[in-house]
Amino acid sequence: MEVFELETGDGSGPRAGLLRLPSGRTVHTPLFMPVATKLSVKTLDPLELKGTGTTTLITNGFLSHLEPGTDVIRRMGGMHTFMGWDGGLFSDSGGFQLIRRGFNARVTDQGVHLRSPFSGEPIFLTPEEVVDLHVAHGVDVGMVLDHCPAYGSTEQDILDAAKRTYEWAKRSKEHCLLSTTAETSPHDDMRVPLIFAITQGGTYKDIREENTRKLVGLDFPGYGVGGLSIGEGKGDMFRSLEASTSLLPPEKPRYFMGVGEPVDLVRSVLCGVDIFDSVFPTRNARHRSLLTPEGKENLRAGRWKGVEGPIFEGCGCTTCERYSRAYLYHLFKAREPLGPRLATVHNLHFMQTLLTGLRKLMIESEDPGRAGPEETIQRIFQGFIQ
Ligand SMILES: [Zn+2]
Repeated sequence: MEVFELETGDGSGPRAGLLRLPSGRTVHTPLFMPVATKLSVKTLDPLELKGTGTTTLITNGFLSHLEPGTDVIRRMGGMHTFMGWDGGLFSDSGGFQLIRRGFNARVTDQGVHLRSPFSGEPIFLTPEEVVDLHVAHGVDVGMVLDHCPAYGSTEQDILDAAKRTYEWAKRSKEHCLLSTTAETSPHDDMRVPLIFAITQGGTYKDIREENTRKLVGLDFPGYGVGGLSIGEGKGDMFRSLEASTSLLPPEKPRYFMGVGEPVDLVRSVLCGVDIFDSVFPTRNARHRSLLTPEGKENLRAGRWKGVEGPIFEGCGCTTCERYSRAYLYHLFKAREPLGPRLATVHNLHFMQTLLTGLRKLMIESEDPGRAGPEETIQRIFQGFIQ
């Protein structure tokens, strides 16, 4: 059976599909993954996550290797078991965080030199080691180590990073082929993960197209689009996304990394993206920002004091079923931990309902973008109200 099966659509526009994961789970696309960098989606446990409609999470291979450590994760039966999560599990390489967020990282053609944020010890990370970590952790999908330069880097730096990303992907693929034949998995029920490549090239169309073409030649089972949503304008972001998606093979899943605003998700689905991850819903929830079909509402403004009714009428999440705006306002004001939890439940449920709605529109043979992203969002939520 194919890893990825399109139920509707093709390479050039919106599509709905099924992604079959090595652990035997099958998840629907388009797919939104909450971020569990430290092996936890902040404030929620797996049962609550399931209740929001979440099927798949993304963790971070390298940071998990440092804390709690690959040995601990393996001994506990792999990442799924350790986290108590029986859904799909992606794992990022850590490259993005390491290179961009002040780990004193120095990138060479061989790999990344950095200092552990926990112990301060020097570490050298290679693309091959990243594949080994994904295998040892027993995740479903592991992302290759890539080089994501900061927004505003020179064209030469972006070209060099794209070339390095390709060379690292090639090494990862070769190493992955070795791993599939080696006895590296500590438990019988753990399979070798699918390793996805990541396209780079910033907002330079020529660099991105060349990088995408070369990575496609390596025949990975899926592709991430990286190096975007890091400061460039929306116009540049979508032009660059299309430079990648227009060249990616239609029969393989595409993952737009780090994109999470609802209108951007809708626009990206129109460009043929299948998979997303972002801290957008969870981080906003902790900062008192609640998602509604009309946009974000911040309860800090005080307008919710003593206000009856749910966050919005018709939201089927357990927070809106049980609690009023007034209660949420009170919890945040009193700094009760339940406030961020209830807000996170609502925001994740909003994102999952949005993607389920887009999927439904596509399967019912309707172009989800016909009415424009904002109207499409409103129509999806009106549809759930009726
Ligand atoms: Zn709700």
